[in-house]
Amino acid sequence: MSNEHEPRKPREQYRLRTRLIHGSFATGRWDYDHHVVPPQSSSTTFRLKSVHRGVQGFVEFGSPQAQRAPIYIYDRLDEPSRSMLEENLAAAEGGEMGVTFSTGMAAISAAICALVSSGHQIVAHRVLYGSTHSLLTNWLPRFGVRTEFCDLTNPECIAGAATRDCRVVYFETPVNPTMELIDMAAVRKVVDQLNADRPEPEQIRIVVDNTFATPYCQRPLEFGVDLVVHSLTKDIGGFGTDMGGAVIGSNRFYNLLMLYRKDFGGVLSPKNAWPILVYGLPTLATRMVNQQKGAMMVANFLLKQPKVARVVYPGLPNFPQAELARRQMVGYDGKFAPGSLLYFELKSCNGSGAMAGERFVDFVAEHAYTITLAVSLGQIKTLIENPFSMTHATVPEEDKIKSGLQPGGIRLSLGLEDWQDIIADLEAALAVV
Ligand SMILES: *Cc1c(COP(=O)(O)O)cnc(C)c1O
Repeated sequence: MSNEHEPRKPREQYRLRTRLIHGSFATGRWDYDHHVVPPQSSSTTFRLKSVHRGVQGFVEFGSPQAQRAPIYIYDRLDEPSRSMLEENLAAAEGGEMGVTFSTGMAAISAAICALVSSGHQIVAHRVLYGSTHSLLTNWLPRFGVRTEFCDLTNPECIAGAATRDCRVVYFETPVNPTMELIDMAAVRKVVDQLNADRPEPEQIRIVVDNTFATPYCQRPLEFGVDLVVHSLTKDIGGFGTDMGGAVIGSNRFYNLLMLYRKDFGGVLSPKNAWPILVYGLPTLATRMVNQQKGAMMVANFLLKQPKVARVVYPGLPNFPQAELARRQMVGYDGKFAPGSLLYFELKSCNGSGAMAGERFVDFVAEHAYTITLAVSLGQIKTLIENPFSMTHATVPEEDKIKSGLQPGGIRLSLGLEDWQDIIADLEAALAVV
Protein backbone atom coordinates (compact mmCIF):
# COMPACT_ATOMS: atom_id res chain seq x y z
CA MET A 1 0.00 0.00 0.00
CA SER A 2 1.50 3.35 -0.96
CA ASN A 3 1.38 6.25 1.37
CA GLU A 4 1.55 9.50 -0.50
CA HIS A 5 -0.84 11.17 1.87
CA GLU A 6 0.98 13.89 3.81
CA PRO A 7 -1.11 16.45 5.70
CA ARG A 8 -0.38 20.06 4.74
CA LYS A 9 1.18 20.77 8.14
CA PRO A 10 2.78 18.42 10.71
CA ARG A 11 0.24 16.34 12.62
CA GLU A 12 1.54 17.73 15.92
CA GLN A 13 0.19 21.14 14.97
CA TYR A 14 -3.40 19.91 14.81
CA ARG A 15 -5.59 20.03 17.90
CA LEU A 16 -5.67 16.91 20.04
CA ARG A 17 -9.36 16.30 19.35
CA THR A 18 -8.55 16.18 15.68
CA ARG A 19 -5.49 14.04 16.23
CA LEU A 20 -7.46 11.49 18.25
CA ILE A 21 -9.58 10.97 15.17
CA HIS A 22 -6.89 11.10 12.49
CA GLY A 23 -3.99 9.72 14.52
CA SER A 24 -1.10 8.59 12.44
CA PHE A 25 -3.03 5.92 10.65
CA ALA A 26 -1.76 7.05 7.30
CA THR A 27 1.91 6.59 8.10
CA GLY A 28 2.61 3.92 5.56
CA ARG A 29 3.20 1.26 8.18
CA TRP A 30 0.19 -0.70 7.02
CA ASP A 31 1.68 -3.17 4.66
CA TYR A 32 -0.40 -6.26 4.02
CA ASP A 33 2.40 -8.05 2.18
CA HIS A 34 4.54 -8.40 5.26
CA HIS A 35 1.99 -9.69 7.72
CA VAL A 36 2.22 -13.37 8.54
CA VAL A 37 -1.37 -13.18 9.77
CA PRO A 38 -3.54 -10.92 7.63
CA PRO A 39 -4.55 -7.78 9.51
CA GLN A 40 -8.18 -7.19 10.31
CA SER A 41 -9.22 -4.19 8.30
CA SER A 42 -12.04 -2.26 9.89
CA SER A 43 -13.03 0.90 8.10
CA THR A 44 -16.51 1.79 6.92
CA THR A 45 -15.21 4.18 4.29
CA PHE A 46 -12.00 4.58 2.26
CA ARG A 47 -9.90 7.63 1.45
CA LEU A 48 -9.99 8.41 -2.24
CA LYS A 49 -6.99 10.26 -3.64
CA SER A 50 -9.07 12.07 -6.24
CA VAL A 51 -12.58 12.40 -7.57
CA HIS A 52 -11.36 10.55 -10.64
CA ARG A 53 -10.40 7.54 -8.49
CA GLY A 54 -13.82 7.63 -6.81
CA VAL A 55 -15.57 7.70 -10.18
CA GLN A 56 -13.42 4.85 -11.44
CA GLY A 57 -14.23 2.84 -8.31
CA PHE A 58 -17.96 3.18 -8.86
CA VAL A 59 -17.66 2.31 -12.54
CA GLU A 60 -15.59 -0.78 -11.83
CA PHE A 61 -17.62 -1.91 -8.81
CA GLY A 62 -18.83 -5.45 -9.12
CA SER A 63 -16.95 -6.12 -12.33
CA PRO A 64 -14.44 -8.97 -12.62
CA GLN A 65 -11.57 -6.44 -13.11
CA ALA A 66 -12.36 -4.97 -9.72
CA GLN A 67 -11.70 -8.38 -8.17
CA ARG A 68 -8.05 -8.20 -9.13
CA ALA A 69 -7.27 -4.66 -7.90
CA PRO A 70 -10.38 -3.21 -6.32
CA ILE A 71 -10.75 0.46 -5.55
CA TYR A 72 -12.30 0.29 -2.11
CA ILE A 73 -14.97 2.95 -1.54
CA TYR A 74 -17.32 1.90 1.25
CA ASP A 75 -17.57 -1.23 3.44
CA ARG A 76 -20.98 -2.30 2.10
CA LEU A 77 -19.57 -2.34 -1.45
CA ASP A 78 -16.31 -4.16 -0.78
CA GLU A 79 -13.46 -4.20 1.72
CA PRO A 80 -10.16 -6.06 2.11
CA SER A 81 -10.65 -8.54 5.04
CA ARG A 82 -13.76 -9.91 3.36
CA SER A 83 -12.05 -9.90 -0.06
CA MET A 84 -9.23 -12.07 1.28
CA LEU A 85 -11.75 -14.53 2.71
CA GLU A 86 -13.69 -14.58 -0.58
CA GLU A 87 -10.56 -15.43 -2.57
CA ASN A 88 -9.79 -18.30 -0.21
CA LEU A 89 -13.37 -19.60 -0.24
CA ALA A 90 -13.37 -19.59 -4.04
CA ALA A 91 -10.15 -21.60 -3.97
CA ALA A 92 -11.61 -24.05 -1.43
CA GLU A 93 -14.57 -24.81 -3.73
CA GLY A 94 -12.63 -24.63 -7.01
CA GLY A 95 -14.67 -21.61 -8.08
CA GLU A 96 -13.60 -18.45 -9.88
CA MET A 97 -15.16 -16.10 -7.35
CA GLY A 98 -16.87 -15.96 -4.00
CA VAL A 99 -19.17 -13.35 -2.48
CA THR A 100 -19.72 -13.44 1.29
CA PHE A 101 -22.85 -12.47 3.21
CA SER A 102 -23.81 -11.79 6.82
CA THR A 103 -25.36 -15.28 7.31
CA GLY A 104 -25.98 -18.46 5.38
CA MET A 105 -29.60 -17.38 4.82
CA ALA A 106 -28.43 -14.00 3.40
CA ALA A 107 -26.24 -15.95 0.95
CA ILE A 108 -29.02 -18.42 0.03
CA SER A 109 -31.61 -15.69 -0.50
CA ALA A 110 -29.10 -13.72 -2.60
CA ALA A 111 -28.17 -16.67 -4.82
CA ILE A 112 -31.82 -17.47 -5.46
CA CYS A 113 -33.21 -13.94 -5.75
CA ALA A 114 -30.42 -12.77 -8.04
CA LEU A 115 -31.53 -15.43 -10.53
CA VAL A 116 -35.33 -14.98 -10.51
CA SER A 117 -37.95 -12.30 -11.16
CA SER A 118 -41.69 -12.20 -10.73
CA GLY A 119 -43.39 -15.00 -12.67
CA HIS A 120 -40.44 -17.37 -12.45
CA GLN A 121 -40.42 -20.84 -10.94
CA ILE A 122 -37.97 -22.72 -8.73
CA VAL A 123 -37.75 -26.51 -8.53
CA ALA A 124 -36.44 -27.70 -5.15
CA HIS A 125 -35.94 -30.94 -3.26
CA ARG A 126 -38.82 -31.66 -0.87
CA VAL A 127 -36.69 -31.52 2.28
CA LEU A 128 -34.57 -28.43 2.86
CA TYR A 129 -33.04 -26.53 5.74
CA GLY A 130 -36.05 -25.10 7.62
CA SER A 131 -35.44 -21.40 6.91
CA THR A 132 -34.73 -22.09 3.23
CA HIS A 133 -38.06 -23.93 3.02
CA SER A 134 -39.75 -20.97 4.71
CA LEU A 135 -38.07 -18.49 2.31
CA LEU A 136 -39.42 -20.43 -0.67
CA THR A 137 -42.93 -20.95 0.71
CA ASN A 138 -43.63 -17.87 2.88
CA TRP A 139 -41.72 -15.05 1.18
CA LEU A 140 -40.97 -15.65 -2.49
CA PRO A 141 -44.64 -16.25 -3.43
CA ARG A 142 -45.29 -12.65 -2.29
CA PHE A 143 -43.06 -11.55 -5.15
CA GLY A 144 -44.63 -13.88 -7.68
CA VAL A 145 -41.98 -16.61 -7.47
CA ARG A 146 -43.37 -20.12 -6.92
CA THR A 147 -41.53 -23.28 -5.91
CA GLU A 148 -42.38 -26.78 -7.05
CA PHE A 149 -41.05 -29.39 -4.63
CA CYS A 150 -40.13 -32.83 -5.87
CA ASP A 151 -37.95 -35.79 -4.99
CA LEU A 152 -34.58 -34.95 -6.51
CA THR A 153 -33.10 -38.29 -5.49
CA ASN A 154 -34.76 -39.11 -8.80
CA PRO A 155 -33.38 -36.25 -10.98
CA GLU A 156 -35.77 -37.13 -13.80
CA CYS A 157 -38.51 -35.50 -11.71
CA ILE A 158 -37.12 -32.10 -12.72
CA ALA A 159 -38.30 -32.61 -16.29
CA GLY A 160 -41.85 -33.13 -15.04
CA ALA A 161 -41.80 -30.33 -12.45
CA ALA A 162 -40.06 -27.52 -14.36
CA THR A 163 -42.19 -25.16 -16.42
CA ARG A 164 -40.96 -22.82 -19.14
CA ASP A 165 -40.56 -20.21 -16.35
CA CYS A 166 -38.20 -22.32 -14.28
CA ARG A 167 -34.90 -20.55 -13.56
CA VAL A 168 -33.43 -22.36 -10.55
CA VAL A 169 -33.05 -25.95 -9.38
CA TYR A 170 -32.17 -25.88 -5.68
CA PHE A 171 -31.13 -28.60 -3.23
CA GLU A 172 -28.74 -29.74 -0.50
CA THR A 173 -26.66 -32.90 -0.66
CA PRO A 174 -26.41 -34.64 1.74
CA VAL A 175 -29.93 -33.52 2.57
CA ASN A 176 -30.16 -32.04 6.09
CA PRO A 177 -30.76 -34.19 8.13
CA THR A 178 -31.91 -37.35 6.33
CA MET A 179 -28.49 -37.79 4.68
CA GLU A 180 -30.11 -38.71 1.34
CA LEU A 181 -27.76 -37.83 -1.51
CA ILE A 182 -28.66 -36.11 -4.75
CA ASP A 183 -26.63 -37.04 -7.81
CA MET A 184 -25.30 -33.68 -9.01
CA ALA A 185 -23.93 -34.94 -12.34
CA ALA A 186 -27.33 -36.52 -13.09
CA VAL A 187 -29.14 -33.26 -12.22
CA ARG A 188 -26.73 -31.43 -14.58
CA LYS A 189 -27.65 -33.82 -17.38
CA VAL A 190 -31.40 -33.30 -16.97
CA VAL A 191 -30.99 -29.52 -16.71
CA ASP A 192 -28.75 -29.47 -19.81
CA GLN A 193 -31.52 -31.18 -21.77
CA LEU A 194 -34.04 -28.59 -20.56
CA ASN A 195 -31.62 -25.75 -21.34
CA ALA A 196 -30.85 -27.00 -24.86
CA ASP A 197 -33.49 -24.83 -26.54
CA ARG A 198 -33.40 -21.93 -24.07
CA PRO A 199 -31.59 -18.65 -24.79
CA GLU A 200 -28.94 -17.61 -22.25
CA PRO A 201 -31.19 -15.39 -20.04
CA GLU A 202 -33.76 -18.21 -19.71
CA GLN A 203 -31.29 -20.92 -18.72
CA ILE A 204 -32.04 -22.90 -15.58
CA ARG A 205 -29.24 -22.60 -13.00
CA ILE A 206 -28.39 -25.25 -10.42
CA VAL A 207 -27.77 -23.95 -6.89
CA VAL A 208 -26.49 -26.33 -4.19
CA ASP A 209 -26.20 -25.76 -0.46
CA ASN A 210 -22.89 -27.45 0.40
CA THR A 211 -22.95 -26.59 4.11
CA PHE A 212 -23.38 -30.18 5.29
CA ALA A 213 -20.52 -31.71 3.34
CA THR A 214 -18.17 -28.67 3.34
CA PRO A 215 -15.80 -28.03 0.41
CA TYR A 216 -13.40 -30.48 2.04
CA CYS A 217 -15.74 -33.43 1.42
CA GLN A 218 -17.35 -32.38 -1.84
CA ARG A 219 -16.98 -29.67 -4.51
CA PRO A 220 -20.30 -29.32 -6.38
CA LEU A 221 -18.84 -27.05 -9.10
CA GLU A 222 -16.85 -30.08 -10.33
CA PHE A 223 -20.15 -31.82 -11.07
CA GLY A 224 -21.51 -28.92 -13.11
CA VAL A 225 -23.42 -27.03 -10.42
CA ASP A 226 -23.65 -23.29 -11.22
CA LEU A 227 -23.58 -21.78 -7.73
CA VAL A 228 -22.59 -23.22 -4.35
CA VAL A 229 -23.99 -21.62 -1.21
CA HIS A 230 -22.64 -22.00 2.31
CA SER A 231 -23.46 -21.16 5.86
CA LEU A 232 -20.00 -20.15 7.10
CA THR A 233 -21.55 -20.38 10.57
CA LYS A 234 -21.06 -24.14 10.44
CA ASP A 235 -17.96 -26.18 9.58
CA ILE A 236 -16.12 -23.48 7.62
CA GLY A 237 -16.17 -21.11 10.60
CA GLY A 238 -15.79 -24.27 12.63
CA PHE A 239 -15.56 -22.93 16.17
CA GLY A 240 -19.12 -21.72 16.62
CA THR A 241 -18.16 -18.08 17.19
CA ASP A 242 -19.36 -16.16 14.13
CA MET A 243 -22.13 -16.20 11.55
CA GLY A 244 -21.53 -15.84 7.83
CA GLY A 245 -22.55 -17.04 4.40
CA ALA A 246 -21.06 -17.29 0.92
CA VAL A 247 -21.99 -17.84 -2.71
CA ILE A 248 -19.27 -19.33 -4.92
CA GLY A 249 -19.20 -19.96 -8.66
CA SER A 250 -17.98 -18.61 -11.97
CA ASN A 251 -17.15 -14.96 -12.66
CA ARG A 252 -20.28 -14.51 -14.79
CA PHE A 253 -22.35 -14.23 -11.56
CA TYR A 254 -19.94 -11.92 -9.70
CA ASN A 255 -21.33 -8.58 -10.85
CA LEU A 256 -24.91 -9.61 -10.19
CA LEU A 257 -24.17 -10.87 -6.67
CA MET A 258 -22.08 -7.83 -5.71
CA LEU A 259 -24.82 -5.45 -6.89
CA TYR A 260 -27.45 -7.50 -5.07
CA ARG A 261 -25.43 -7.45 -1.86
CA LYS A 262 -24.79 -3.70 -2.14
CA ASP A 263 -28.52 -2.94 -2.38
CA PHE A 264 -29.99 -5.58 -0.06
CA GLY A 265 -27.16 -4.90 2.33
CA GLY A 266 -26.45 -8.26 4.00
CA VAL A 267 -22.67 -7.86 4.03
CA LEU A 268 -20.38 -9.93 6.21
CA SER A 269 -18.76 -7.73 8.82
CA PRO A 270 -14.95 -7.70 8.43
CA LYS A 271 -14.81 -8.51 12.14
CA ASN A 272 -16.67 -11.76 11.42
CA ALA A 273 -14.76 -12.41 8.22
CA TRP A 274 -11.44 -12.28 10.07
CA PRO A 275 -11.81 -15.30 12.40
CA ILE A 276 -13.22 -17.35 9.50
CA LEU A 277 -10.22 -16.27 7.41
CA VAL A 278 -7.63 -16.79 10.14
CA TYR A 279 -8.96 -19.70 12.22
CA GLY A 280 -11.87 -21.36 10.42
CA LEU A 281 -10.96 -21.97 6.81
CA PRO A 282 -7.25 -22.77 7.44
CA THR A 283 -8.20 -25.58 9.87
CA LEU A 284 -11.15 -26.97 7.87
CA ALA A 285 -9.30 -29.94 6.38
CA THR A 286 -7.67 -30.97 9.67
CA ARG A 287 -10.95 -30.69 11.55
CA MET A 288 -12.94 -32.57 8.94
CA VAL A 289 -10.50 -35.49 8.80
CA ASN A 290 -10.80 -35.91 12.57
CA GLN A 291 -14.54 -35.20 12.90
CA GLN A 292 -15.12 -37.69 10.11
CA LYS A 293 -13.15 -40.35 11.93
CA GLY A 294 -15.32 -39.76 15.01
CA ALA A 295 -18.48 -39.99 12.87
CA MET A 296 -17.35 -43.32 11.42
CA MET A 297 -16.60 -44.75 14.88
CA VAL A 298 -19.93 -43.55 16.30
CA ALA A 299 -21.92 -44.77 13.26
CA ASN A 300 -20.37 -48.23 13.57
CA PHE A 301 -21.11 -48.27 17.29
CA LEU A 302 -24.77 -47.27 16.79
CA LEU A 303 -25.21 -49.84 14.04
CA LYS A 304 -24.52 -52.62 16.56
CA GLN A 305 -26.93 -51.39 19.26
CA PRO A 306 -30.14 -53.43 19.64
CA LYS A 307 -32.12 -50.31 20.65
CA VAL A 308 -31.14 -48.44 17.48
CA ALA A 309 -33.60 -48.93 14.61
CA ARG A 310 -31.67 -47.17 11.84
CA VAL A 311 -28.37 -45.32 11.34
CA VAL A 312 -27.79 -43.23 8.24
CA TYR A 313 -24.22 -42.18 7.52
CA PRO A 314 -22.73 -42.06 4.00
CA GLY A 315 -19.57 -43.76 5.29
CA LEU A 316 -21.36 -46.98 6.32
CA PRO A 317 -21.25 -49.92 3.89
CA ASN A 318 -25.05 -50.36 4.28
CA PHE A 319 -25.71 -46.73 3.22
CA PRO A 320 -28.44 -46.97 0.54
CA GLN A 321 -26.55 -44.73 -1.93
CA ALA A 322 -23.06 -46.03 -1.12
CA GLU A 323 -21.86 -45.96 -4.73
CA LEU A 324 -22.98 -42.35 -5.25
CA ALA A 325 -21.43 -41.36 -1.91
CA ARG A 326 -18.04 -42.70 -3.02
CA ARG A 327 -18.30 -40.94 -6.37
CA GLN A 328 -19.43 -37.57 -5.03
CA MET A 329 -17.82 -37.19 -1.61
CA VAL A 330 -14.06 -37.09 -2.05
CA GLY A 331 -11.65 -35.20 0.21
CA TYR A 332 -8.73 -32.99 -0.83
CA ASP A 333 -6.51 -36.07 -0.38
CA GLY A 334 -8.56 -38.02 -2.95
CA LYS A 335 -10.00 -40.33 -0.28
CA PHE A 336 -13.68 -41.02 0.43
CA ALA A 337 -14.97 -38.20 2.65
CA PRO A 338 -18.41 -39.00 4.07
CA GLY A 339 -18.51 -36.00 6.44
CA SER A 340 -19.14 -35.45 10.12
CA LEU A 341 -22.94 -35.70 10.38
CA LEU A 342 -25.13 -38.69 10.99
CA TYR A 343 -28.76 -39.43 11.63
CA PHE A 344 -30.30 -42.26 13.65
CA GLU A 345 -33.61 -43.49 15.04
CA LEU A 346 -34.38 -45.55 18.12
CA LYS A 347 -36.71 -48.55 18.34
CA SER A 348 -39.94 -48.04 20.17
CA CYS A 349 -39.67 -49.29 23.71
CA ASN A 350 -42.39 -48.45 26.25
CA GLY A 351 -44.14 -46.21 23.79
CA SER A 352 -43.19 -44.87 20.37
CA GLY A 353 -39.78 -44.48 18.74
CA ALA A 354 -40.43 -40.74 18.87
CA MET A 355 -40.72 -40.79 22.65
CA ALA A 356 -37.58 -42.90 22.96
CA GLY A 357 -35.72 -40.40 20.76
CA GLU A 358 -36.76 -37.44 22.86
CA ARG A 359 -36.01 -39.23 26.12
CA PHE A 360 -32.58 -40.11 24.75
CA VAL A 361 -31.79 -36.52 23.78
CA ASP A 362 -33.12 -35.21 27.11
CA PHE A 363 -30.85 -37.61 28.98
CA VAL A 364 -27.88 -36.49 26.88
CA ALA A 365 -28.77 -32.83 27.51
CA GLU A 366 -28.71 -33.41 31.26
CA HIS A 367 -25.95 -35.95 31.75
CA ALA A 368 -23.51 -36.02 28.83
CA TYR A 369 -20.20 -34.14 29.00
CA THR A 370 -19.11 -34.52 25.36
CA ILE A 371 -22.48 -33.96 23.63
CA THR A 372 -24.51 -30.75 23.76
CA LEU A 373 -28.20 -30.36 22.90
CA ALA A 374 -28.20 -27.39 20.53
CA VAL A 375 -29.22 -26.55 17.00
CA SER A 376 -26.51 -25.64 14.47
CA LEU A 377 -23.82 -28.10 13.48
CA GLY A 378 -20.25 -28.38 12.28
CA GLN A 379 -18.15 -27.15 15.13
CA ILE A 380 -15.46 -28.53 17.42
CA LYS A 381 -18.10 -29.55 20.00
CA THR A 382 -20.43 -32.48 19.30
CA LEU A 383 -24.04 -31.30 18.98
CA ILE A 384 -27.29 -33.29 19.09
CA GLU A 385 -30.91 -32.41 18.27
CA ASN A 386 -34.29 -33.79 17.15
CA PRO A 387 -34.71 -32.28 13.64
CA PHE A 388 -38.33 -33.37 13.05
CA SER A 389 -39.70 -31.13 15.79
CA MET A 390 -36.88 -28.58 16.01
CA THR A 391 -34.85 -27.40 12.96
CA HIS A 392 -37.26 -28.91 10.41
CA ALA A 393 -40.52 -27.89 12.09
CA THR A 394 -41.54 -25.79 9.05
CA VAL A 395 -41.15 -28.62 6.50
CA PRO A 396 -44.53 -30.37 5.88
CA GLU A 397 -44.86 -33.59 7.88
CA GLU A 398 -45.73 -35.64 4.81
CA ASP A 399 -42.52 -34.56 2.99
CA LYS A 400 -40.42 -35.32 6.04
CA ILE A 401 -41.86 -38.82 6.41
CA LYS A 402 -41.53 -39.55 2.67
CA SER A 403 -37.84 -38.60 2.90
CA GLY A 404 -37.31 -40.91 5.85
CA LEU A 405 -37.31 -38.30 8.61
CA GLN A 406 -39.22 -39.64 11.63
CA PRO A 407 -40.47 -37.88 14.77
CA GLY A 408 -37.84 -38.53 17.44
CA GLY A 409 -35.07 -39.05 14.86
CA ILE A 410 -31.72 -37.78 16.06
CA ARG A 411 -29.07 -35.72 14.25
CA LEU A 412 -25.56 -35.86 15.57
CA SER A 413 -22.84 -33.44 14.45
CA LEU A 414 -19.46 -34.81 15.45
CA GLY A 415 -16.91 -32.49 17.00
CA LEU A 416 -13.29 -33.05 17.90
CA GLU A 417 -13.67 -34.77 21.28
CA ASP A 418 -12.12 -38.20 21.77
CA TRP A 419 -14.54 -40.60 20.06
CA GLN A 420 -14.34 -43.12 22.92
CA ASP A 421 -15.77 -40.48 25.27
CA ILE A 422 -18.58 -39.64 22.84
CA ILE A 423 -19.48 -43.32 22.55
CA ALA A 424 -19.47 -43.72 26.34
CA ASP A 425 -21.94 -40.81 26.67
CA LEU A 426 -24.18 -42.37 23.98
CA GLU A 427 -23.99 -45.74 25.69
CA ALA A 428 -25.16 -44.25 28.98
CA ALA A 429 -28.14 -42.60 27.26
CA LEU A 430 -29.05 -45.81 25.42
CA ALA A 431 -29.14 -47.66 28.74
CA VAL A 432 -31.99 -45.49 30.03
CA VAL A 433 -34.35 -45.45 27.01
C1 LIG B 1 -27.30 -23.39 9.13
C2 LIG B 1 -27.67 -23.72 7.76
C3 LIG B 1 -28.16 -22.72 6.89
C4 LIG B 1 -28.37 -21.30 7.32
O1 LIG B 1 -27.20 -20.65 7.72
P1 LIG B 1 -27.19 -19.42 8.76
O2 LIG B 1 -25.75 -19.06 8.81
O3 LIG B 1 -27.74 -19.93 10.05
O4 LIG B 1 -28.05 -18.35 8.18
C5 LIG B 1 -28.47 -23.12 5.60
N1 LIG B 1 -28.33 -24.38 5.17
C6 LIG B 1 -27.86 -25.36 5.97
C7 LIG B 1 -27.72 -26.75 5.43
C8 LIG B 1 -27.52 -25.07 7.29
O5 LIG B 1 -27.08 -26.05 8.08
